[in-house]
Amino acid sequence: MCYAIPGKITGFQDKKVIIDYFGEKRYAHNDFVKVKAGDYIYAQGGFVINVVPEKEAREILEFWKETFFKLRKVDLRLSKLEGKGEASKKTRTILDAALEGRKIKFEEYLHLFSLEDEGDKEYLYKVANFIRQKYHKNACCVHGIIEFSNNCANNCLYCGIRKDNIALPRYRMTEEEILDTVKRSIDIYGFKALVLQSGEDPEWDAGRIAKLIKKIRGENAVLLFISVGEVGKAGLKKFYDAGARGVLIRFETSNETIYSKIHPGDSLSRRLEEIEEAKKLGFLVLTGGLVGFPGQSDEDTVKDILEAVKLAPEMYTFGPFIPHPQTPFAGTKPPSLDKILKTISLLRIADPLGKIVSTTALETLAPVEGRNRGFMAGANSMMLNLTPDEHRKNYQIYPERIHENVSVDVQVREAVSDLRKLGRAPTDLGAGV
Ligand code: SAH
Repeated sequence: MCYAIPGKITGFQDKKVIIDYFGEKRYAHNDFVKVKAGDYIYAQGGFVINVVPEKEAREILEFWKETFFKLRKVDLRLSKLEGKGEASKKTRTILDAALEGRKIKFEEYLHLFSLEDEGDKEYLYKVANFIRQKYHKNACCVHGIIEFSNNCANNCLYCGIRKDNIALPRYRMTEEEILDTVKRSIDIYGFKALVLQSGEDPEWDAGRIAKLIKKIRGENAVLLFISVGEVGKAGLKKFYDAGARGVLIRFETSNETIYSKIHPGDSLSRRLEEIEEAKKLGFLVLTGGLVGFPGQSDEDTVKDILEAVKLAPEMYTFGPFIPHPQTPFAGTKPPSLDKILKTISLLRIADPLGKIVSTTALETLAPVEGRNRGFMAGANSMMLNLTPDEHRKNYQIYPERIHENVSVDVQVREAVSDLRKLGRAPTDLGAGV
């Protein structure tokens, strides 16, 4: 569970600390800070991030106490199981099994993924949201992402920052710029978990990134995820030793033929090996794929969902493929919003305990309602874009990204307001926002 309101350490068990949040017990690893029973701390992604002075912690908890339980009530009301009567018998039978925690067969997942009828689809989303509420209550992770370079040595067929897109202005943030953005994100907006992402930029090799991680960790209390593509076991180890504790690396598609076609010179097995290596080293892994690649079938996406669940990541991130005009896939069509919502719901059914992101690309596909629909279909996490305004529009993995021109201030305010409407507690953001 992803709480970043302060919790109180009540004891220790094995290598973990036991933390109390309004009467609920949680456990967290402690790699970074010295703590003792009675200390108030922030934890994120299962790691203690920092100790909070008692007076400050008490004030924040006082603020949260009432809000927290109020939001829970809203969430509980919105996640009631209704609409069963509108769904077909076959759909109901499968979803009953899901609600009882029975194993769902591949063909049954495929049936759910192929649903067209509105009553069927709505009931699927309701069941997924019900399961989300049952296991996660109303907690919602809010991570920030900083895209520090759009230079890329790769030529992935679908990606707008591919090497051959010579029309795209390239940028590379300096160490100072990145450090400054990180600091602002933590100090002003209260982020406790940040993703540093880039293309595969030869000037930002693993050694240089590791140095940056060390510097960031030395100056800030934050859970760092790295997302720079494949760096091999040695590169990953450098990141871990420097103090990063997560990697974001999508496997994109589990269909080997499609994978090799769209990633010239790379293979699915190499990508999956990288993910396994990261897990072995102890990283929290965020992974998933894209839905709607040209040539990708419904069977492929259901396989992707089950492959992702097999990888047992910290968080799932699946988004729609959105065609970019300066790529070989220009002129193809993005998938429907329903396809993405179904993907989220199937993930929720296949892994009730997992965290699932409602992605930015989903919002781009369906502005205004996209993200919230994702939350109402089983998602419980989001990422806000903290890349400095002048660079953000050039991190053009696909065109017209939703937050291209929206300041971080506004993004944070909108996110908090959306979450409150849905009764979710954006507990990663701290109480100040
Ligand atoms: N170099 C890193 C980060 C790549 S960009 C890596 O290899 O992991 C981050 C993500 O953007 C990719 O994982 C991919 O899933 C997504 N992406 C790329 N092109 C896209 C497109 N046209 N539509 C939607 N998402 C896209």
